[in-house]
Amino acid sequence: MSGKLLLKPACGKLIELFLHLFYFFPLFQAEKKIATIHNVFAVIRGSEEPDRYVLLGNHRDAWTYGAVDPNSGTAVLLDIARRYALMMRQGWQPRRTIVLCSWDAEEFGMVANISSLGSTEWVEQNLLNLGSKVVAYLNVDCAVQGPGFFAGATPQLDNLLIEVAKKVQDPDSESMTIYDNWMITNKVINIQRLSGVDSDFSPLLQHAGVPSVDLYYGRDFPVYHTAFDSYNWMTNHGDPLFQRHVAVAGVWGLLALHLADDPILPFNYVLHRTIMELHKSPTQLG
Ligand SMILES: [Zn+2]
Repeated sequence: MSGKLLLKPACGKLIELFLHLFYFFPLFQAEKKIATIHNVFAVIRGSEEPDRYVLLGNHRDAWTYGAVDPNSGTAVLLDIARRYALMMRQGWQPRRTIVLCSWDAEEFGMVANISSLGSTEWVEQNLLNLGSKVVAYLNVDCAVQGPGFFAGATPQLDNLLIEVAKKVQDPDSESMTIYDNWMITNKVINIQRLSGVDSDFSPLLQHAGVPSVDLYYGRDFPVYHTAFDSYNWMTNHGDPLFQRHVAVAGVWGLLALHLADDPILPFNYVLHRTIMELHKSPTQLG
């Protein structure tokens, strides 16, 4: 690969999937087949540091209708693309390169704990370049599952996340920011750590070592991966006025703007070190 980032989709790449787990559940008939997957990218080239990348990613494949998982995230990603396009028409160009990533095949194989195939293939294909040039990866999977703001991040991004949450209007209470409501709901700012493998941040963070964020409204929604994950459920329960979608677009889009435009990257490695120390095992501390 001669130092050039491969942005072409993973089409043409044939992936054989063995859902061997289903072998033990005779009521479920799984397919063993070869399929072609497609990742799709939109690139806004940076003016000053074009070889530094800020990635925003969301998967596009769904189990059923996927109004929450993943289309709420896809709708928000498309709205951010619309907003950035408006800014570009006014003459804006980011300092660093922004890449919007629409991943395929995140769900395929989920039951066998081998998810995020589209992003994993791309990370494996571009590992050296991504590990050395990606500033941060900002993931949104199920953007809106209900009320309440939730976020996960690697600790050097905690401060930026909090500062951005102070700038975005809370979707459920007019006089508050997302930060205000986040504090009231949790008593403290509760930023989770991204130890799971349940979305596309996993290969970027755990394989390429890229600082990452994951954002969502609501959690544990009852129609997850069922045929009821529909537009009807979203308009009746998840986000009837779609204002939570708008809030996620605000946080996600602003995070990327800071990471792409701030002359000095807004990372806090003092806090990062403190939190890493806290997670050391007792034997390591000794
Ligand atoms: Zn998903």
